[in-house]
Amino acid sequence: MSDPKRELAEIAHDLGEWLRLDQEKGRRGLPVTAPPPGTPAPPASEAQGSTSAAPSARGSATTKPTVPAKAAASRAKASSRPAASAPAASAKTTAASASRGKKLDKIELEPITAAYTASLESLKVLGEEASTCKNCGLCETRNKVVFSSGTARTKVMFVGEAPGADEDRQGLPFVGRAGKLLDQIIDAVGFDREEIYVANILKCRPPNNRDPKPEEIEACTPYLEQQIELVKPRIICALGRFAGQFLTDQPKASMGSLRGKVAKYKDGTPVLPIYHPAALLRNPNWKRVVWEDVQILRQEYLRLRDQG
Ligand code: SF4
Repeated sequence: MSDPKRELAEIAHDLGEWLRLDQEKGRRGLPVTAPPPGTPAPPASEAQGSTSAAPSARGSATTKPTVPAKAAASRAKASSRPAASAPAASAKTTAASASRGKKLDKIELEPITAAYTASLESLKVLGEEASTCKNCGLCETRNKVVFSSGTARTKVMFVGEAPGADEDRQGLPFVGRAGKLLDQIIDAVGFDREEIYVANILKCRPPNNRDPKPEEIEACTPYLEQQIELVKPRIICALGRFAGQFLTDQPKASMGSLRGKVAKYKDGTPVLPIYHPAALLRNPNWKRVVWEDVQILRQEYLRLRDQG
């Protein structure tokens, strides 16, 4: 029987050690390489195109959650979003050279303006609406709706799959073992959990942590779409296959093909899919792969920040 605390400590130690070695070499990030020899192929649940693949975000048959139009519009700031990232094929090289030697201090936070206050109010209204949502069958089995955590002032958003047992009990995303590992990853790469915004594709826990069903994704993702619209992140990190498929609109893509490549959300926001921390707990051999991918996240964030 493995010891979860020891597993986490080992993973965190490895991440910290890689960071230290990179810094000693004068690099802020690692070159992207293929998974190291001996890395086992992803399991079918992570690597294969899903038969219960994420549907398109558009055209939900269920009631779309509402957000006060005025507040959403004031936040929209149509011209404020930075230009979309470079094509995936060149993003890694560009990001690496652009960010080399630059120090990441704190993630910049949105100033507290009237527009921000309005969007915060809209998020609050949306969260309250979700807390009583009955748009899909998961309302029958959930304990608590898990809407989000972190700050909406952020420029970096993480999107996972769905709440697990701990999250369902506490009403917060990523608070269990996978959440602790996410904290370690975020910390090792130079971000702070308090400076990011975290949400899930589904707001309610699927029984026994089964995969989300297409109709559940279709019913629930309007909440996520509006969260993204209101938070307006500079970059999104998609955790796992379902988040990666939905946010990049590649419903049949395997995790192996999604991970480590900067794609775009439908509004042009760069999206970087990485393995879900829960998958990493199941297969610690992916530590290096995840480490490389979060370095891309860091580099892309720095590039976009410097781009203004
Ligand atoms: S999973 Fe989403 S759509 Fe389904 S009941 Fe929960 S909040 Fe509503």
